[in-house]
Amino acid sequence: MPLACTLNSPAPSSPDTILHDVFGYSAFRGAQAEIVDHVIAGGDALVLMPTGGGKSLCFQVPAIARHRRDQGVAVVVSPLIALMHDQVGALEEAGVHAAFLNSSLTLDEVQRIEREMMGGRLVLLYVAPERLTTPRMLAQLDSLEERGLLSLFAIDEAHCVSQWGHDFREDYLALNVLHERYPGVPRIALTATADDLTRADIITRLALEDARVFISSFDRPNIRYGVVEKDDARKQLLRFIQDEHEGDAGIVYCQSRKKVDETAAWLSGEGLTALAYHAGLGADVRRRHQDRFLREESIVMVATIAFGMGIDKPDVRFVAHLDLPKNIEAYYQETGRAGRDGQPADAWMAYGLADVVNQRRMIDESPANEEFKRNQRGKLDALLTLAEAHDCRRVRLLAYFGEASERCAAYQNACDNCLQPPATWDATEAARKALSCIYRFHQQGGQRYGAGHLIDVLRGKTTEKVEQRNHQSLSTFGIGADVSEAQWRVVLRQLIALGYLQTEGEYNTLELTSTARDVLKGDVQMLLREQSEAPKRGGGGRAGKTAARGARSKDKAPPIPLDTEGTARFEALKAWRAEVAREHNLPAYIVFHDAALAEMAQAMPDSLDALGQISGVGAKKLEAYGREILRVLGN
Ligand code: ADP
Ligand code: ZN
Repeated sequence: MPLACTLNSPAPSSPDTILHDVFGYSAFRGAQAEIVDHVIAGGDALVLMPTGGGKSLCFQVPAIARHRRDQGVAVVVSPLIALMHDQVGALEEAGVHAAFLNSSLTLDEVQRIEREMMGGRLVLLYVAPERLTTPRMLAQLDSLEERGLLSLFAIDEAHCVSQWGHDFREDYLALNVLHERYPGVPRIALTATADDLTRADIITRLALEDARVFISSFDRPNIRYGVVEKDDARKQLLRFIQDEHEGDAGIVYCQSRKKVDETAAWLSGEGLTALAYHAGLGADVRRRHQDRFLREESIVMVATIAFGMGIDKPDVRFVAHLDLPKNIEAYYQETGRAGRDGQPADAWMAYGLADVVNQRRMIDESPANEEFKRNQRGKLDALLTLAEAHDCRRVRLLAYFGEASERCAAYQNACDNCLQPPATWDATEAARKALSCIYRFHQQGGQRYGAGHLIDVLRGKTTEKVEQRNHQSLSTFGIGADVSEAQWRVVLRQLIALGYLQTEGEYNTLELTSTARDVLKGDVQMLLREQSEAPKRGGGGRAGKTAARGARSKDKAPPIPLDTEGTARFEALKAWRAEVAREHNLPAYIVFHDAALAEMAQAMPDSLDALGQISGVGAKKLEAYGREILRVLGN
């Protein structure tokens, strides 16, 4: 290519040109530019980036660049057949020739796509791993490779290859064939799973030893983390949604299918549009609910962990946990589904003594071997420490993944503890009293009791049971009358969470562990958060939003503050977008993100050129929709 040409206008296959013309974005984020260059040049890469970090562009831009250099088709391996349609739709909207092959297609459609692929005309082909490794597909890939038309492999959700991960898929193991069979074709594996064990596993199992590893910060600065003491969790949840997220889309995680169904029904009764999702529902119900969640606004999805992987809806404004997740990895993954678009979002969790007891019991009663259980307990403990923390939760979360950080800065959507540092009280003495009371029970007759009875004895309450057991004669009777019942529950929860106490049997009776002695001896200081009467509202996080929204409107607020006319333009654009989305059978955010519409409503571009400057408006969308948008804006 002549030098003059490169100087005047960048080559059509340059990453910057593609980013701008195809996706309508002005700059790469973080490591994206480096990753893209590395893969275009033919290198292998392992990309660890949080949800919302922008992983898709890391393989889409190289795929387009290499296609424009006549290097053919990129093959994207994705476990989520149900979401391929939308991902491909998004690319086609941006003018990129893409397709997927999965079991939902007719024979005719498959043949048409195969022709496009074999002719090297497709830019990206999405397939599930089990399909990729069929003899038929491999023969087709062989032929493409012989003709130099296999541009790259992208392995999305790469943690599925790891048994340590939470989404292990047998089919992913067969993907090492790619390296053996096509050593010359660059491979890029991507995941948002952060822990070391899974990383190492991905590298060995996918033979990525020579790949460059790109690790981004796992901080999600737009997510506000918060934990509330469980009181009446459903009501607390409802209040949280009504106060902070009216009209927003969100996900509520519960542990059991039954609780999912009940919670969804209850929220619906309270006037929200809540849908249920769990593995016990028929495939068609699940698909319908997922589609509605993706395509409509303001849906609250109440779900087990069966829901969520690969859901790339950008405007999920909150993720709530009504039950404690299994560990920090799960908490991070699940909360990470909020705020992919970078706008403020909430990770909210209600947490209480029963959660600790239940999670412990689930581990104890699982059929797994002792080593596995020990590992699970350790992970649960780390999460409990995060839940009980009275310092910055973000710092603790990131520290768990080996990342050092500062407490929430002002620009961040700070965690609850940074927004409102909780008052603490020294519970060291109380903890000793509780443990010695249990010790006395033990001495007196070897009997074990649950938290309720223990608290009665500590507070000096003469109940029937106390009298029957003659517990008013114990030296510990009434020694904790100055501590409220609620405070006692927190103390006990902490003692269980920290492993000084364990619960047993169907009545959750309390028993000392071997480390309890450290507390009794006074070697352990326990600082606990003061019980707040009612969770305080707002805390400063949402002030701007509430103001912009005005009086209890049911509509979702625009992502940037707009005046009345601006908001009207935003709503008009949304109505227009809804039409287009319906016609194309795609979620609205694939046509344009809310942020792009809001920017249009604010900037009021009066020409196609001006409209093209707006982030998210690429050449194809400008051509397809530009005139209509200008018309909607009143030009
Ligand atoms: P991930 O797959 O890592 O969760 P996505 O690829 O879905 O993240 O990207 C998250 C959002 O950020 C998407 O809406 C995407 O369009 C947007 N995005 C990604 N990279 C950029 C960029 N360089 N400039 C502007 N927006 C971007
Ligand atoms: Zn913080």
